[in-house]
Amino acid sequence: MRTFPGGVHPFEGKSYTEKKKIEKLPRPKQVTIPLQQHIGAPTKPLVEKGQEVKAGEKLAEAEGYVSVPVHASVSGKVKALEDIDHPVAGRGPAVIIEAGETEEWIETIKIDEKYQDLSSDEMRKRIQDAGLAGLGGATFPTHVKLKPPEDKKIDVALLNGVECEPYLTADHRLMLEYPADIIRGFRIIMKILGVKRGIIGIEKNKKDAAEVMKKQIAGEGDMEVMVLPVKYPQGAEKQLIKAALDREVPSGGLPMDIGAVVQNVGTAKAIYDAVSSCRPLTERVVTVTGPGIKEPKNLLIPIGTHYQDIIDFCGGLTEKAAKIIMGGPMMGIAQPNLKVPVIKGTSGILVLEGKQAHLPFEEPCINCGRCVEVCPSHLLPTTLQRLVYHERFEEAGKLHLMDCIECGSCSYICPANRYLVQSIRHGKRQLLRLRKKAG
Ligand code: SF4
Ligand code: SF4
Repeated sequence: MRTFPGGVHPFEGKSYTEKKKIEKLPRPKQVTIPLQQHIGAPTKPLVEKGQEVKAGEKLAEAEGYVSVPVHASVSGKVKALEDIDHPVAGRGPAVIIEAGETEEWIETIKIDEKYQDLSSDEMRKRIQDAGLAGLGGATFPTHVKLKPPEDKKIDVALLNGVECEPYLTADHRLMLEYPADIIRGFRIIMKILGVKRGIIGIEKNKKDAAEVMKKQIAGEGDMEVMVLPVKYPQGAEKQLIKAALDREVPSGGLPMDIGAVVQNVGTAKAIYDAVSSCRPLTERVVTVTGPGIKEPKNLLIPIGTHYQDIIDFCGGLTEKAAKIIMGGPMMGIAQPNLKVPVIKGTSGILVLEGKQAHLPFEEPCINCGRCVEVCPSHLLPTTLQRLVYHERFEEAGKLHLMDCIECGSCSYICPANRYLVQSIRHGKRQLLRLRKKAG
C-alpha cells in the first residue's frame, strides 16, 4: 500500500466511539458564537444586543475575500456581544444568544432540485454565503480553496477520509451514515474544479467505511477509493497527496502547485448542504471521547454550544479527568475551562486523565536521530529547536522552519521528551512576526 516517508504509530484510542452512531445533542439554552472561526480576515457583526434572531441568520459578515460569514445556530435573543475565551485564539469577540422557547429557522433553506445545473461560480457563492471553512480542523475558507488561480492547473481532487488523529471518529461515522451526501458534495467539488479524477483516501482501520464508500461510488467511473496504511499523519494534506499521487508539494508551496485540491469528508457534506439547499454551517459532528469522559459519543452539535453542556450530556467527567483538549492528542489544543464553545474547526473534545495530561520534563538530547527519521516534512527538529531556543529565527527559516506541519511526530517519538513541536510552533510565530515587521 502507498504511503509517505516518516510518521509514527500512536495509540489509536478509536474504540471508545468508532461504533457509536451520531446522536443529535438537545438544543442548548444558550450558545456563544465566536466571530472568527476561520483562517483569514475577521468578520463584522450585523446584530445588536437585545435583537431577536432566527436559526441560520447571519450574525456577522465576511470582511474581505479570504473570510466567511458566521450564522446563528439557534433562534432566540442576542444577550451580549463581548470577548470570550476562544478555543483557538485565547480571547476573541463573540455573539451570545439565549435560545427562545421554539426553534425558528430562516426561510431561505429549501431543497433546490436543479442545483446540479448551477455554474461553478454560483456554487462557490452558495458555499461562501454558507460560511464554510475546512471542517477537518484547518478552517481555511472553502470557497477560496475551490478557486485556484488561473495559472494553477488542477487535475485531481482528493477527498480526505483518513482521520489519522488518534481518538477521533467523527469522519468515520459520517462516511458510514451519510455516504450519499458526502459523494454528492465531492461531485460538486469536482465540477467546480473541472477535474475528471477524484480519489477518496481512507485509512485501513476504517474498512467498513471504505466498503460503504466503494458501494456509493459504484458506476462513477471518475472516482476511486484508495485504502491507505494506518500511520500518523497520513491525513495531513501533503502526506495524503504524497501517498495517493506520489507528488510532493514544494517547500513553501500549496497542493494546488502540483495540481491537487484536498477537502475533508465533513466539508464535502457541508458543501452538499450549502449548494443543494442554501443551508448555512450551523452545526457539526464532534467526537466527545477519552478516558476522562463517562459516556463517550459522536454528537451533532450546534456551533457555539459550551463544552459543559456537551460533557453533561455525555454523563460528565470521571474523577480522574485532568485535561480537556479541542481535537486529538497529537494536534489538539488544551482548553482553559468548560465555558469555551464548539466552533467550525472542533472535530473532537478529548478528556485525558492523570499522567496522560502532563508534559514530562525535558531532558538533554541524546542525538539518537529518531525525530529526524519520523519527520514527514524532512526537517531537523532538534536543530530547529536549538535555533529557536537561541532566538535565531531567520536561520531556522532557512532550514525550512515554516514547512513544519506541527504534526507532533517528533515530540511523540523523542526519548528525551524534548518540547520539539512546541518550540517549532513558537519559532514559526516569531518568524512570521519578524517578516511582517520587515514588510
Ligand atoms: S518538525 Fe514539524 S513536521 Fe516534522 S515531525 Fe516535528 S511537528 Fe511534524
Ligand atoms: S529524538 Fe529527541 S533525543 Fe533523539 S535526536 Fe531528536 S531531540 Fe534528540
